[in-house]
Amino acid sequence: LMQLFRPLDMLGWVYRTIRQGLIDMAQMFRLIDTEIEVKDAPGAPALVVNRPTVVFDDVVFGYDRDREILHGLSFEVPAGGHVAIVGPSGAGKSTIGRLLFRFYDPWSGRILIDGQDIAKVTQESLRKQIGIVPQDSVLFNETIGYNIAYGRDDAGQDDVIAAARDAAILRFIEKLPKGFDTEVGERGLKLSGGEKQRVAIARTLLKNPPILLLDEATSALDTRTEQDILTTLRRVSRHRTSLSIAHRLSTIADSDLIYVMHEGRLAEQGSHTELLRKDGLYAEMWARQAHEQEALEEAAE
Ligand code: ATP
Repeated sequence: LMQLFRPLDMLGWVYRTIRQGLIDMAQMFRLIDTEIEVKDAPGAPALVVNRPTVVFDDVVFGYDRDREILHGLSFEVPAGGHVAIVGPSGAGKSTIGRLLFRFYDPWSGRILIDGQDIAKVTQESLRKQIGIVPQDSVLFNETIGYNIAYGRDDAGQDDVIAAARDAAILRFIEKLPKGFDTEVGERGLKLSGGEKQRVAIARTLLKNPPILLLDEATSALDTRTEQDILTTLRRVSRHRTSLSIAHRLSTIADSDLIYVMHEGRLAEQGSHTELLRKDGLYAEMWARQAHEQEALEEAAE
């Protein structure tokens, strides 16, 4: 992946910005070969966020003209709220993330952040407001400090240290003989899945976005590490709006609000307890995952 980007290094900050966007996207959606097809409208203003609300208003979208994926989807994430999107595979969860990042434009309907249509503001300003914390983080074959500061050229040493502290990886780094100057990646120190994810969290914190998009895709982490990471994420999400795209329900049960998607539509919504009481799709998914977990634990014994 890095070889692909290397020639871009020479072309200055414009490309760095684009590259960062692509890497964020690639990390979350593994979509590096997708063409970017949206453009800024001439004279588009910057997105200004005072109250980080997110609204999907009757959004219709498909990747190909002959196949509609989202069929008029409407939902809201209140400022400071922690909302999760769940649903069976192929329901359209990741698509929501891609649209929020304006990787594509809806066929109809609008996506609003703090009341502003994201199709009408600059993409650069939009992407600055949204931090992605992916499950599978890509690190560069560079120092750990570089990996944290990446994408924030103006970050000072104190900022990097503070971000590492908030992501609960500072103590780990300080114990390394070369500290922040330790090379990581293929030729350097191999980090565990959990450590890599903390580096990604620190990188996002340095960007300090008011909105977090959390991808809880396939987890390669053991349960204990996952719980530790979740605790960190909860702490750093506290004063931010967060939207979690969740594939496993155990990680999002304490969200303020859970939207359950099915085949590109909202099937149910509510808190975990309310949804269990409804005894619908969510309750069924919950029962199935609990059952799978038990089977796994039995097999491990
Ligand atoms: P999962 O839990 O399996 O990740 P999901 O709910 O996130 O699923 P999406 O990735 O949003 O589902 O996909 C929704 C639908 O859109 C699927 O039917 C998928 O085949 C289709 N789709 C996703 N990405 C593309 C693409 N780049 N081009 C065409 N179709 C796509």
